[in-house]
Amino acid sequence: MTEELKKIIDGNIKKCICESCPSYTECMRAGRGLLFCVTGKSANCIFEKKGCICPGCPVTTILGLKRAYYCIKGAETEQK
Ligand code: SF4
Ligand code: SF4
Repeated sequence: MTEELKKIIDGNIKKCICESCPSYTECMRAGRGLLFCVTGKSANCIFEKKGCICPGCPVTTILGLKRAYYCIKGAETEQK
């Protein structure tokens, strides 16, 4: 992991609102999965799309994100 990426993660992980999302699972909670928009999709969890609240997250504004469902589809940079 690059220093820059680490800085982005440290600076934004507390702002992630995934835990309030209807699609967030106990599996993700157990893996302490957060900030999927930067770190990539949640490994080893089974997903059901029940909505994604990423568009309303402060990190979307801060990083200028344009997508959603990062926990399922992967980080902003991974999504085509
Ligand atoms: S945009 Fe989504 S994945 Fe990224 S920090 Fe916000 S709630 Fe978490
Ligand atoms: S990335 Fe989106 S869908 Fe996944 S848990 Fe976070 S807010 Fe919900």
